[in-house]
Amino acid sequence: MRPSTEFNLIVIGAGAGGMTAALIAAVLGMKVLLVEGSDKIGGTMAYSSGTAWIPGSQHQAEPDASEDAARALGYLDALVGDLADRKLREAFIANGPKMIAFLQANTSVRFQAYSYHPDYRQELPGAASGGRPLDPLHFDGRLLGNKFDVIRWPMPELTLPGGMMVTRGEAARLLNGLTSWDSIKLGITLLSRLASDRLHYKRGTRLVLGNALAARLYKSLLDQKVTIILNGRITRLIKTSGTVRGVVLAQNNTETSIFACQGVILAGGGFAANREWREHYLPKPTAQYTPAYDGCNGETIKLALAAGGIIGPAASDNALWFPCSIAQRKDGSTAVYPHIVLDRAKPGLIAVNSMGRRFTNEAASYHDFAHAMYATNQEGQSIPAALICDRRFLWKYGLGMIWPHSLSVKRYIQNGYLQADHSLNGLAAKIGVDANNLAQTVKTYNKFSKTGKDTEFGKGEDIYNRNNGDPLHQPNPCIGPIASAPYYSVRVFPLPVATSLGLKTDENANVLDESSQPIEGLYACGNDMNSAFGGQYPGGGSQIGLAMTFAYIAATHAKHRQPLQR
Ligand SMILES: Cc1cc2nc3c(=O)[nH]c(=O)nc-3n(C[C@H](O)[C@H](O)[C@H](O)COP(=O)(O)OP(=O)(O)OC[C@H]3O[C@@H](n4cnc5c(N)ncnc54)[C@H](O)[C@@H]3O)c2cc1C
Repeated sequence: MRPSTEFNLIVIGAGAGGMTAALIAAVLGMKVLLVEGSDKIGGTMAYSSGTAWIPGSQHQAEPDASEDAARALGYLDALVGDLADRKLREAFIANGPKMIAFLQANTSVRFQAYSYHPDYRQELPGAASGGRPLDPLHFDGRLLGNKFDVIRWPMPELTLPGGMMVTRGEAARLLNGLTSWDSIKLGITLLSRLASDRLHYKRGTRLVLGNALAARLYKSLLDQKVTIILNGRITRLIKTSGTVRGVVLAQNNTETSIFACQGVILAGGGFAANREWREHYLPKPTAQYTPAYDGCNGETIKLALAAGGIIGPAASDNALWFPCSIAQRKDGSTAVYPHIVLDRAKPGLIAVNSMGRRFTNEAASYHDFAHAMYATNQEGQSIPAALICDRRFLWKYGLGMIWPHSLSVKRYIQNGYLQADHSLNGLAAKIGVDANNLAQTVKTYNKFSKTGKDTEFGKGEDIYNRNNGDPLHQPNPCIGPIASAPYYSVRVFPLPVATSLGLKTDENANVLDESSQPIEGLYACGNDMNSAFGGQYPGGGSQIGLAMTFAYIAATHAKHRQPLQR
C-alpha cells in the first residue's frame, strides 16, 4: 500500500512494543502508520511465551491489585536500586494496569493471570508467588483469513511436529501419554484440529503464547484499519528546529517523506542481533548467537542517535540472558534453543564447568544462571557449561531440543548436539571436563538427592526453583540422583535474548538528548528504550510487560501533544 504522506503518529517496528503503541494510538483516534522492516509481523514476541509482567492488573485476584502494585514497586526498588531512574519504574507500575485495562476494553487483546508463577528473586522484599505474569489467551489464526501468513512463525524447536503450538501446561498433560484419559482427549482434540488446519494452511492455526499475542494485536490493528507497511526501510528521521516531524521511507527504490504531526515511536527491538554491537557493549566472551529475531539489529536506535538521541546509562551488563544450546537444523540453519524452564530445575541435572564442578544453582532464573556463567568463567571455564544428566532424566524430562519420551536420540548424537557415554569418566573425556572432579561432583549431588538439601548452591530451596521442578519428586523436587547409565551432556552458552542498553528516555518514553532534554516528537519503547529495570529481571514477562507499558505511555503522551502544522 502506498502511504498517504501525513499521519498523526508513525511507529517503526511491529513487535511487542510497536504493535501495542500503534494499536493504542489508533483506538485513541490517531491516524497511524506502522512500518515493519521484514515481511512478517511479531518480531521476537512471535517466538516468545507472550507473558507480560504487570503487577496490579485487573486479572490479579489475590492479593488485592492496588496493594500489590505498591509491593511490586518495593520489590523493584530492592532489585534495581540506582541502576535505573526510579521515575521509570514508578511510571511502569502506575501505567501497566491501565494499559491492560485499555486493551481489554477496546481491542481483541486478552490476558489471564498466572495465579502461581513466582517472581525470580524470591529473597528480595516484595517478591510475589504469582498473579503478576499475564498469559495471552489462545487465538484462532483462521480469524485472520489470508493475513494469517503475515504472523512470524514460532521457533520450530518449540512447536510440535506439523507446526502445532501447545502451552507448557498442555505439553505436560500430553506427556502423560496414554496413562490418562485427559491426555488422550487433549491429544485427539489437538491432532484433529491440526489435521484440518493442514488442509488449508502451512501450519497449525491454533495459536498460543507469543504467537497468540502477536495475532491478537495484529487482528486488532486490522480492525482499527491501521496502515501497515511491511518490508519498509526508514532511512532517517525528519527533524527541524529540534522537533521530530516524520520519517523518510525507502521502498521499491524510491524515498518518500512522511509527516507525523504528533510523533514517531521507535520499537525496533534493541540490538541483540547486531554482532558488532554485541562485541562492543556486551561482556566477553562475546555471544556468537542470539535467540532473538534477526531483525533486532539496532537500526532504529541508530536513527535516534543520528537525530541527537543518546544511549544509556549502561547497567551491569547491558543484556537479558538465556542459557542456550546450539544445533544445525536439517536445512542447514542454526537452531538456538533457550533453556528457559523445562530442564535445568528438574531433579537429576547438574551444570558443570570445565573443572567438572558445579558453579551455580541450576534452577535459578535463566538470566541469573547466565550471569553466573559469566561471573565464574575465570575460575574454571563455565562458558560453555555442560548440562549433565542420566538416561532416566532424559527419558522423563527431555534435555534442550530433545523432547521427553524420545524413542531415539541417535540423530542428536550424530549431529554433535548430545554427548553420551556409558560411564561418567567416558563422558568427561568426550566433553573435555576433569573426570575425577566430575565423579566427585556427581557423588556429592547424589547425596543431596537423599537429604533434599543442596548445601552448595541451595537448588530447590525457594518457590521459584520448586515451581519448575517435579512436584512428584521428593524430598526436593529439583534434586534427584544421576545414576543410570548412559550419561548425557549438552553444552550451553549465555546468549542475549534481548539488550537492556537502549535509548535514554524520560518517564514519558520521550527520547532524551545529551543534555537530558526530551527531543520533541521522538519516543522509544521495548528494547529500543534503555531498560527501566536497569538490566535486572524481576519475573516472567518483564520484557513484554515493559515494552507494552511504555508503548501505552508513549502513545498516550503523543496523543496529548498539540499537532504540528506542516
Ligand atoms: C524463546 C523466547 C521466549 C521469550 N518469552 C518471553 C516472555 O514470555 N515474556 C517476555 O517478557 N519476554 C519474552 N521474550 C523476549 C521478548 O519476546 C522480547 O524482548 C520482546 O518481544 C521485545 O519487544 P520489542 O517490541 O522491543 O521487539 P520485538 O518484539 O522483537 O519487535 C521488534 C520489531 O521491530 C522490527 N524492526 C527492527 N528494526 C526495524 C527497522 N529499522 N525498521 C522497521 N522495523 C524494524 C523487527 O523486524 C521486529 O518485528 C522471549 C524471547 C524468546 C526468544
